[in-house]
This record gives sequence, C-alpha cells and structure tokens, in this order.
Amino acid sequence: MISRRNWFLSSAALAAAPQATAQSPGGRFISIASSNGLRAVTLAVTLMKQRNYDTLDAAISGVNIQEEDPEDNSVGYGGLPNEEGIVELDASVMHGPTRRAGSVASIRGIKTPSKVAKLVMERTDHIMLAGEGALRFAKAHGFQEEELLTEKSRKAWLLWKESLRDPRGHNNWGPGLDAPAGADNPPRAWLRQRYPGESPEFLDWAWEMAMHPITGTINCLALNGKGEMSGVTTTSGLAWKLPGRVGDSPIIGAGLFVDQDHGAAGSTGRGEENIRVAGAHTVVENMRHGMSAKDAVLDCLKRVARNYNNDPAKLGRFDLNFYALRKDGDFAGGSLWNGSYSRGQFQPRRFAVSVDGNARMENCVHLLERKA
Ligand code: ASP
Repeated sequence: MISRRNWFLSSAALAAAPQATAQSPGGRFISIASSNGLRAVTLAVTLMKQRNYDTLDAAISGVNIQEEDPEDNSVGYGGLPNEEGIVELDASVMHGPTRRAGSVASIRGIKTPSKVAKLVMERTDHIMLAGEGALRFAKAHGFQEEELLTEKSRKAWLLWKESLRDPRGHNNWGPGLDAPAGADNPPRAWLRQRYPGESPEFLDWAWEMAMHPITGTINCLALNGKGEMSGVTTTSGLAWKLPGRVGDSPIIGAGLFVDQDHGAAGSTGRGEENIRVAGAHTVVENMRHGMSAKDAVLDCLKRVARNYNNDPAKLGRFDLNFYALRKDGDFAGGSLWNGSYSRGQFQPRRFAVSVDGNARMENCVHLLERKA
C-alpha cells in the first residue's frame, strides 16, 4: 500500500517529470526511413491513409519490400553473409499505442525477420529471441526456412575470402605455387582472370564490398493522423561479420525506440558505435526533453564523436545515421558525416520521407564534413 508520504513524493515526482512535447499531430500521415526506404515510406503512408493500416503493420509492410528484394544486399534475402557465407539477420519492432516491442537476432533462413520480431512481440512473453531458437519459433508459426544467399552475394563473399592474405601474403583460397603465370597479378587483373565470365560492373562492386565491407539496414518509422506511432529496423548487419555477431538493429533502445508520448527514432550504420550510446533511446529522450528532431539527432551524434575524443581519423572509419520523428510531426535524418565519396563522386547522406503521400529524399543534417 502506498503511504501518504510516498504518495506525496510520487505526485511531486510526476509533476516534475517532463510532459509530452507533442502538440496535435495535425492529422498528418508521416513515414521516414533510411536512404533505401523510399518505396517503404511510400507504401507505409498509403496503407495507413487509404487502408487504415495500423502504424506498425504499415511500417513492416514497407520494409518487407527491401527484405524480399535480392538486389538490396544489406537486408533480408540477398543480404551479404557472415564470414562463413551464411546470411544472419537482425530485426526489431516497437508498437507505440500498446507500448510493446519484439526482436530477433542472428536468425537464419527467414526472409522477413521483421515479421518474426512482430510475432515475438505478440505471441510470446519475451521481447528478444536469438539464433536457433528464433528460427524454430518462426517455423512453429509457419514460416518457411529458405536459402537467403543469392548467387550475387555468394560470389561477392567468395571473392572477399579469396582477397584475404596472411602476413606472408598467402591464402589457401588463392592460387597455389604451381598456378600458371599471372595468377598473382594485382587485384583487378587477377579478378578478371579468375572470374572471366563476370561483368566489369559486378567485379567492381564485389571488389568494393571486399575492401570496404558494407553495413546497411532499413529503419522505417510511421505516424498516423491520430498521433499513433511505431517503428521497425531490419538488417543483414555487417558484411563478413563473425557468426553470431549481433548489431544494434535488434536492440531496443539502440537500433529502434518508440515512446508513444513523444516520438520515435531508429538507426543505420556501424551498430557497435550506436550500441555504446543507446542511440535511438537517446534521440527519443532528447525529444522528450523538448529538442527538435534535428537537434536530438545531432546531440546524439556528438556523444558518438565524444567516445573517440572527436578524433576525425577514427571517426572517419565509420558512418552512423539516426532518423527521428516526433509525435507532433517534426522529423529529421542525421548522419555523422555529410556523405561519402564513391569513385570520386560525392554522395550526400540522405533519408526517405513521405508526408501525406508526398514521398521524397531529403538530405540528412550532419556533424562532420568529409573532404574529397
Ligand atoms: N546497423 C547495422 C549493424 O550494425 C548495419 C547498418 O545499418 O549498416 O548491424
């Protein structure tokens, strides 16, 4: 039973607690997502607005497009595998109205881990399932176990394996001492010789993946006209990762966080850095204390930079992005770096947004600027 004194204290504490920052959402339907999410936000808003979909179902339907797309090598089917050539996926969901969450980590063989994360939320008394247990749970609910490695991903993985060298420059997956002349040519020539049937575009891409293993993910946040919000993050994680490596995406509070009273946030980029600042929770907490979406993501990125004493050389070795959507409809994408250079071309860091069906890409606000 609560004593009179405790009751008084709790009332005072409650009065001092920050109140919801959100004003009326103005009846707008808004979805934001990472740069690969233009189709996702378009579909999410259409489903919410025209078919009265729940915010979480709309966001999940949006990211399913990327999960099932073999050409997106950072998510679901076609995602780049771990160092053993096996695709392992992470995903999380949060449903604002019921304040529930679910996630799966290192799940194999299921194209749409976001749907499994939702089932964990709805059909278990747990929040997170990992590895073999997550796969068994998915199969128990009728999911088909499938091969997630596409031919393109398999070849890229094999090429990465063959590109590795021990300190003496040797790799058992490479040509032996008895190989014909030219087998140890510099990379590009070696690639063309080893994979004569592949197009130069594929070889360029695969070599880029081998040299700079990508991260990539889709995060999608959704707000409906009633001010309800939800979010989802789904990924194949870091290419060539150690088997069992779990990134930030399935971690509630890192890759995703939704507080129905204030706002939602998600992240893509190097998960290890995000986990150390509990990024999505930090962004939402910033908004809960009254920051705009833009200030909330920039403040969180400053904490990431602080972890390396703002050393640009170390910070330059990774990217990290946050996406924030306040309940009042204010939104932002924010990145550690303004963009990246690919073959001399600058590519600004962007995010996808749809406001009432007007879908577009917008530039992220950023903390640091890369020089060419
Ligand atoms: N955050 C993901 C991870 O670290 C990857 C990414 O978003 O690029 O697994």
